[in-house]
Amino acid sequence: MIPPIASRFVAGEAPAEALDHVRQLNDRNVKAIVNLLGEHYDDREDADADAREYRELVEDIARSDLGATVSVKPSQIGLDFGEDVFRENLEEIVETAADRGVFVWIDMEDHTTTDATLDAYEELAREHDGGVGVCVQANLRRTREDVRRLADVPGKIRFVKGAYDEPAEIAYKNRETVNREYKALLEYAFENFEDGIAIGSHDPAMIDRAIELHEEHGTDFEIQMLMGVRNDAQFNLAEEYEVYQYVPYGGRWKSYFYRRAMERKENLWFAVRAIVGR
Ligand code: FAD
Repeated sequence: MIPPIASRFVAGEAPAEALDHVRQLNDRNVKAIVNLLGEHYDDREDADADAREYRELVEDIARSDLGATVSVKPSQIGLDFGEDVFRENLEEIVETAADRGVFVWIDMEDHTTTDATLDAYEELAREHDGGVGVCVQANLRRTREDVRRLADVPGKIRFVKGAYDEPAEIAYKNRETVNREYKALLEYAFENFEDGIAIGSHDPAMIDRAIELHEEHGTDFEIQMLMGVRNDAQFNLAEEYEVYQYVPYGGRWKSYFYRRAMERKENLWFAVRAIVGR
């Protein structure tokens, strides 16, 4: 059992707890992106086990008829053991999901994984038209070029600012520059994509810009936010737009919870209480 204090950001340890949370979101018009927590394993068996759990999860989602997708991390399903291991596990997840009509997102990790992740996305999205999406990061200098390359791939792209501390040679380090890049990427996408745009941000300025661009170009889009972050905004936006909540679950919840809790000053007390077990 996860402590109640962590349950703001993590749906539980078992898939059934995550799906219960999804049901409550669906009742309020918010869909879900379910993520089994895990990354960078020492043992390949852990990566294969997570890939198996994802296949079972998409079956559970399909059986329970929930408004939910899944999101996987490349290092979680074997990229550290070779691109072939990652591809094999991802293909099996995507094939199971495609058979059952469940959408699969691929999270983006640090810059050493970008090529392998985008290549896998492009191939699988072309094979499973409309069933796969990938995340791109506005802080990477390469991303404008990547998005141009992916413009005609029949999938979805989640635009995020980027969560990894990348070297200055390949990444923008200044917050204002990342925000400017993020908006430039959205402008390109709303002008050039037919659909498949996902705004993975809590930033009201980025969401407002997406809404303006949607009104200008008519291109559909969805908004994605993390469980426990601006929950009220999620439910309010869902009255007018398509909103997805990213719902993490699993036994490896501790480091994820501490990261979320330490992100903002007002959450620090949360983290301290969890650490001292009260
Ligand atoms: P920030 O730049 O952190 O904040 C801007 C403004 O947003 C703040 O000033 C405030 O007004 C508001 N805000 C932000 N956080 C809060 C809060 N906790 N409470 C209240 N207001 C807040 N990164 C990756 O590198 N790879 C991924 O695959 C990936 N997937 C993601 C999926 C989703 C659904 C989301 C939401 C994010 C994902 N990220 C991913 C993380 C992302 O890259 C950013 O690190 C993270 O979202 C913080 O940037 P931001 O745009 O939300 O806003």
